[in-house]
Amino acid sequence: MNKTLIKILIGIGCFVIVIVVGSIFFFKNLISLKGDEVVQVALNSNYEEKGAKTNFIDDDNIKITGEVDNKKVGTYKIKYEVKFLGIKVDKYRTVEVVDREAPELTLKGGETVNVCGDAKYEEEGYTATDSYEGDLTDKVKVEEKDDIIFYTVEDNSGNKTTVRRYINRDDKEAPKLTLVGSSTSSVVLNSKYSDPGYKVSDNCSEKVDVKVEGKVDTSKTGNYTLTYTATDEAGNTTTVKRKVSVVKKTSTSSGSGSIPGNCVIYLTFDDGPSKTSTPKILEILKKKNVKATFFVINHSSSLDYLIKQEYQEGHTVALHSYTHNYKTVYSSKTAFYNDLKKIQDKVEKLTGVKQMITRFPGGSSNTVSRNYKKGIMSELTKEMKEKGYHYFDWNVSSGDAGNVKTSDAVYKNVTKGISTKRSNNVVLMHDFENNNKTVNALERIIDYGLAKGCKFDKIDMTTPMVTHGVNN
Ligand code: ZN
Repeated sequence: MNKTLIKILIGIGCFVIVIVVGSIFFFKNLISLKGDEVVQVALNSNYEEKGAKTNFIDDDNIKITGEVDNKKVGTYKIKYEVKFLGIKVDKYRTVEVVDREAPELTLKGGETVNVCGDAKYEEEGYTATDSYEGDLTDKVKVEEKDDIIFYTVEDNSGNKTTVRRYINRDDKEAPKLTLVGSSTSSVVLNSKYSDPGYKVSDNCSEKVDVKVEGKVDTSKTGNYTLTYTATDEAGNTTTVKRKVSVVKKTSTSSGSGSIPGNCVIYLTFDDGPSKTSTPKILEILKKKNVKATFFVINHSSSLDYLIKQEYQEGHTVALHSYTHNYKTVYSSKTAFYNDLKKIQDKVEKLTGVKQMITRFPGGSSNTVSRNYKKGIMSELTKEMKEKGYHYFDWNVSSGDAGNVKTSDAVYKNVTKGISTKRSNNVVLMHDFENNNKTVNALERIIDYGLAKGCKFDKIDMTTPMVTHGVNN
């Protein structure tokens, strides 16, 4: 081979190399991505396609394929492809869907907890949830250091959450002190008062000191307050009070125990509240500045506001019955007490008072109960007193639930029944829908009583019971 040929061959070789390298370079750069080659997208946010461009052909000829599921953590490829002179050229973008949200960790119990002395804190529990991975409670790590408990949880993407719970070793919790028996009770004049006592407990102290202050002087009628104060070893105290009334001996409808010149009238309204009558009764009582007693039963909760209003305006909301259904109430003692408890709970919910003043449906002298349970009234009247209830019958009847049709007749029955020599006129009237005869007689009845020098009062736990003879 001569030198010229070698030179030519080298020249051709160089030319071919330049062409090949140039072509590779050209095709490799035929497509370029807009935006980064690796893109991160937070879970549930949208991946925005920025596209690609090319210098020699229209960008619209670029075919883009591949999908990004933004609800699933992972790596996705997007392919950009273009054909030029019959040659396919492609380029890829990497899209990473990532979870950046830390799990949520919630403590059961307080962030600061009280523990006595060196006692161990009893873990109250916790929950951890991740918006992507779900329940991670099992992955929570718990560490305690210097009375701080650290709860840490990490999700698969490395997002971490730590919460702390602080242990307080000073006893700041007051003892629990509750009275045995009712917080209001009464005792008959010149009898012996025996206190039912209390129950006390404390979170830390084994020894809790309880002092009872106050005295019930049963030789004098009146209201007495007993104050119970419990003190634990750390000096936290709890105080509760009991009101005890010393009352004159229970009187009966015959009117024994009457004191001349000491006329008191207790207006009582049964079977309410009622949408039409209660507001009118309350308005008259307010106008005349007279307090009365409502023996309520259960009506629709839409009338609850009337019970609240009775209480707020200073009247006594007493218990009559939940159902006022004789067959239900007098079928057994259990049925009776169930019914009573339901109306007692309702009144307590509405007024905050655990009421112990009651009136039997039909009165304690009713005979209707014989149809359902023989002898039930004899047992109930005895037991109710033992349980601390004060039940009231009446000694003046308006007759407004019976044959009486006019307000004149209501007025006549009541005024005829009132004895100005009696300190315990208990007047039975009714608060049912549209009982206009009673509503219309009410103001005149009050005027009559006032003119006769009588005082109007509501029944409370100091009012001597007025009861009928029992007939069953
Ligand atoms: Zn009734």
